[in-house]
Amino acid sequence: MNLSRQVHRLLTFRNLRTRLTLLYMGLFGLALILSAIAVVTAVTNSARHMVRGEMTSAGAVYGQLWEARSSQLGQSARVLAGDHAFRQAVAANDAPAMRSALDDLRARQGLDGALVLGVDGHATPTGVTLDEAARTALFKGLESGGPESGVLTIGGQPFQVVAAPVDTPAPAGWVVFAERLDAAQMRNLEGLSPIPLSAAVVLNPVQASIGQPITVETGQGLSMQLAHPLPSFDPAAKTFLLLTSPLDRAMKPYESLFLWLAAIGAAGLALLMGGTWVLSRGLTQPITALDEAVHRLQQGEYVEAPVTSTDEIGRLAASFNAMVGDLRDREAKLTHMALHDQETGLPNRLSLERQAGGHTDAWVVLFGVDRFEVVRNAIGYDSMGRLLAVLGARLSALADGAPMARVGAGSLGLVIIARSKAEALEAAEHLAAAAQAPISVNGAPVDIALTAGVAGHGAAGSDLPSPVDRAAIALDQARASRQSAAAFDEVAYGDPAGNLSLISELMTALNNGEVSLAYQPKYDFRAQGVTGVEALMRWTHPRRGAVSPDLFIGMAEETGHIRPLTEWAIRRAIEDQKTLAAAGHVLTVSVNISGRLLSDESFADFAVEEVATSGADLCFEITETAVMGNPEMALRTIDRFADAGISVSLDDYGSGLSSLTYLKRIRADELKIDKSFILGLDDSARDGLLVKSTIDLAHGLGLKVTAEGVETPTALALLRGMGCDMAQGYLIGRPAPMAALLDRLAPAEGAKSAAV
Ligand code: C2E
Ligand code: CA
Ligand code: CA
Repeated sequence: MNLSRQVHRLLTFRNLRTRLTLLYMGLFGLALILSAIAVVTAVTNSARHMVRGEMTSAGAVYGQLWEARSSQLGQSARVLAGDHAFRQAVAANDAPAMRSALDDLRARQGLDGALVLGVDGHATPTGVTLDEAARTALFKGLESGGPESGVLTIGGQPFQVVAAPVDTPAPAGWVVFAERLDAAQMRNLEGLSPIPLSAAVVLNPVQASIGQPITVETGQGLSMQLAHPLPSFDPAAKTFLLLTSPLDRAMKPYESLFLWLAAIGAAGLALLMGGTWVLSRGLTQPITALDEAVHRLQQGEYVEAPVTSTDEIGRLAASFNAMVGDLRDREAKLTHMALHDQETGLPNRLSLERQAGGHTDAWVVLFGVDRFEVVRNAIGYDSMGRLLAVLGARLSALADGAPMARVGAGSLGLVIIARSKAEALEAAEHLAAAAQAPISVNGAPVDIALTAGVAGHGAAGSDLPSPVDRAAIALDQARASRQSAAAFDEVAYGDPAGNLSLISELMTALNNGEVSLAYQPKYDFRAQGVTGVEALMRWTHPRRGAVSPDLFIGMAEETGHIRPLTEWAIRRAIEDQKTLAAAGHVLTVSVNISGRLLSDESFADFAVEEVATSGADLCFEITETAVMGNPEMALRTIDRFADAGISVSLDDYGSGLSSLTYLKRIRADELKIDKSFILGLDDSARDGLLVKSTIDLAHGLGLKVTAEGVETPTALALLRGMGCDMAQGYLIGRPAPMAALLDRLAPAEGAKSAAV
């Protein structure tokens, strides 16, 4: 897979494997955190429980110690108070004796302080200096019959104080022992506890902690505190033993446990991550492969996804592969359809065009079935399809298996390799001839005639049609020139795109004076002079210059514009004939009439009317083939011309399909032998023979004969010898404008006749 794509997916968590791993890690981490919380809470709770228990028992122990010391001190005090000598000293208020007894006892018992408090409130202290506040508090407490032991603050220091009454026998006062509640004592107490503990005697501590351990914030972290009440002489100053145990110290033994737990958790997490990464690979790899396959399919590549399991993913991959197979088949089918003809199953035009591309020696040969529509209408479309398939196979076999494509309704084509146009043309002719045996359709033989068109590679960068199109044009050109095969003729093809606007331009040209008539003289052998002229149309286009009449006349015929053109020519010719007559030249003027106009009755009306009103001597040149389209109509029209005194000339005789039948039926006066025969007269004995026999035939039918295309004196001499009546051609005179004709005719009349 593409690395950057993979990295990108990894980073944006669009990778299934990453997401799976992260999901598992997240879940496991959450479980780990929850259990850690549970463990820490349980451990903390149990630690606190333990601290609380220890504190409570430390409080109780201290209470017992207090009691024991109190009763011990009380015992000593009572012993002293009961001593006879001491009682007398008190009764006598003998201070030195009292002090001596007190000092003695203090020394023996190790007491901090001892004193006698008289019923009058006077104190005799030893060991300690009793301040006024302490004295008052002690006195009030004892006088009111309060407890005989408790805490008393002397000079800001707490003391455990025990008293015993001295009776003489009347109450005389109290013996009081005081023992300092000092740091050493507290350290002793702290040492008794198994947990870290600090003890202190305090006044009025946090109310909530009295008799009940609570958790407090001490400034050095969380601590547990317990205030144990101690009896006090001063009711206003409640005294407590305050026990404090810092919780973090209590948690200390568990720290390593927590560390271990954290380490195990981290190790587990890492293991899980690795494990999931490895395990998910097995799960995501087929999906990744499938994803990759889909991606490549999108890019137009047909790939199979590996099927590695039988689970859903495996089935998905199998379905994907089946789909890819279907797609491939369908595309192959579509491609086949796009490149083949449905009717015959042969490759089609597109396929041929592909074959023709590239190779410079490749030539496209198109075979057109002659009279295709006629045959198809006779045998039906289905049979025609079969016939073409058989013909295609036959041609393909003849062409060493080259694939035969169906290019048009009635044309098949193939690509051949040839070194030159002549070689390609020869091959095409040979194939067409060899394939022309009848083909049996529905049990009946159908005659096949083929015409071939050949085209090679156009010059690079030329805007000519494709080779296949040019071969099709060549096929049309072959048919038009009645050849069995022709190569594409670029000159004859001209510029069809540029010609599209030509007709509309021609119609305006007619009114602009761009169109004119040129006259070509016709020489009469017998009269030894020019007795007529042929009017030939000329168009000088403002941009294109002279446009060939073959081009614009042909287009005018095809687009139905020939009639205004011809009517204009007739009027012009009549006018020019008058001008010529005025100059002393009485000449028959021949005008070319398109075959299409022979079926136009109103045109005939026009022509007959024009000639009748003007009294002009016109000859209409009509090609013989024009009659064959609609013979009855054409023959009737020609009859009308003849009746109106217009002579009729059969133009281009011999160039088309000549039929004696029509020749006999047309009421013509003249026959014009096509220039193709006359041009070849000098060096072709065969043409000479044809011309001679044509002249004889025409004479036999009562027609005069004109030979056109006379360019050489030899041809002229031969024609004279054959008995030809008239000659027309460059030798006698080129088509020239009216003015030039007048110039030529006037002075040269005699000289010309002499020369010829
Ligand atoms: P076309 O009727 O066969 O006219 C004779 C053609 O032969 C003219 O060509 C003429 O210039 C040419 N020609 C004459 N003598 C010689 C020669 O010695 N050697 C050679 N090589 N050619 C010669 P153009 O003028 O190019 O006219 C071509 C065709 O156009 C005419 O053939 C005719 O069919 C048609 N056309 C011309 N004017 C008209 C018209 O007014 N109406 C109609 N319907 N067709 C016309
Ligand atoms: Ca003519
Ligand atoms: Ca002609």
